[in-house]
Amino acid sequence: MINGNMSRIIIVGGGAAGLMAAGTAAELGADVTVFEKNKRVGRKLCITGKGRCNITNNCTQNVFIENVNTNPRFMYSAISNFDCSDTMDFFEGLEVSLKTERGNRVFPVSDKATEVVSALERFAYKSGVKILSDASVRKLVIKDNTVTGVIDNGGTMHSCDAVIIATGGCSYPLTGSTGDGYKFARQAGHTVVTPEPSLIPLCCDGSDLVDCKEMQGLSLRNVGVKLLKGNKEVYTDFGELLFTHFGISGPTILSSSAHIIDVMRKEYSISIDLKPALDFDKLDARVLRDFEKYKNREFSNSLSDLLPSSMVPVVIRRSGIDPTTRCNSITKEQRYTFVKLLKDFRFGITDTRPIDEAIITRGGVKTSELDPATMQSKLCSGLYFCGEVIDVDAYTGGFNLQIAFSTGRLAGTWAVYNS
Ligand SMILES: Cc1cc2nc3c(=O)[nH]c(=O)nc-3n(C[C@H](O)[C@H](O)[C@H](O)COP(=O)(O)OP(=O)(O)OC[C@H]3O[C@@H](n4cnc5c(N)ncnc54)[C@H](O)[C@@H]3O)c2cc1C
Repeated sequence: MINGNMSRIIIVGGGAAGLMAAGTAAELGADVTVFEKNKRVGRKLCITGKGRCNITNNCTQNVFIENVNTNPRFMYSAISNFDCSDTMDFFEGLEVSLKTERGNRVFPVSDKATEVVSALERFAYKSGVKILSDASVRKLVIKDNTVTGVIDNGGTMHSCDAVIIATGGCSYPLTGSTGDGYKFARQAGHTVVTPEPSLIPLCCDGSDLVDCKEMQGLSLRNVGVKLLKGNKEVYTDFGELLFTHFGISGPTILSSSAHIIDVMRKEYSISIDLKPALDFDKLDARVLRDFEKYKNREFSNSLSDLLPSSMVPVVIRRSGIDPTTRCNSITKEQRYTFVKLLKDFRFGITDTRPIDEAIITRGGVKTSELDPATMQSKLCSGLYFCGEVIDVDAYTGGFNLQIAFSTGRLAGTWAVYNS
């Protein structure tokens, strides 16, 4: 508390975590100012969920934790304090009607991310938060391991009792998330785990790339996806996948990417099971039926019941079977090879897309240097972190915004209680 008045709290960053922290702290009676470097708050939020904003996942705390990929244990306190159902109640309380879609993904009924941003702004303003836009923080002011204020881009110092860093990661930098929080963390003596792209499309090379380009725009639903490191299975998923001009994308690929470490070693591949509902024998029987049905047709004209048309030439090339072979001349061995191919349609991974295109930054402020019950720095008193700037990340499905809301809620609460 400064001069015996209400505690003054500065929040750096007006994204999901920052606005949640700001409104929470102001509701508890603090004098709160948000510094946002953009003209408007919530720029990244506006593009979430393809403009529809998947705000959370309608799941239990345990399922949430299972979906946190890096440092899930760090999230125990934050999620038990403010869980996915609290997020839903919170937004419904702000008159945002919600709906739950496939995979328990929660969206506003309006399908408009801007409605979510407006609701968060309303929450902040209603609680008395001052939002300064076009206001970039350049540096922290730290004395005797205690933060006492911030310096803005114009060089003006703003003093306060607590600073909450909610600057996000460093993906999609045009939204304002340019990694400034890492600089502030280092200034306070924190370790920053190297930021890397996560939830990112994957690139292929050589003949795999040629195949992806040929199938560009083809989206597969209900396929099985395995990420392999050498022959070792690292991650399995089921759902959608998209072929692109650079390689592969889509929800199952983004989630797989969260498990790739050091992509440049080129040890990873993606194996697609095109018919996961059928085991090898059942699929073989199905293929045999098709070959019998089209016994007088050429192999290349027999696959339309089984595969999307843009995939047919690629599969034929990979099968090694002459496309002009009549179906009734295909040998059992050739058929087995073909069925194996459908169960293990393989693409070598040579790179990820650049971090600018990542949905999430993996890495950030080291969790062991933060108190998980308050989000306060263990190294610098009065300094808090929330949201993507921390080394915590999750799969797609609304879990990353839930991380922002849960950690923002906790940081906003404890910045007031401790001041
Ligand atoms: C394309 C895309 C789609 C996504 N879709 C989803 C989804 O549907 N569901 C989901 O759960 N997650 C989604 N995510 C992830 C989610 O958007 C982030 O996890 C979340 O926004 C992180 O919130 P945050 O508040 O920590 O950071 P941000 O939302 O990035 O906010 C940080 C804010 O800090 C400001 N800032 C930075 N530095 C400074 C500074 N020095 N001074 C002042 N202000 C500063 C920035 O301008 C920005 O406004 C998506 C991400 C992307 C890129």
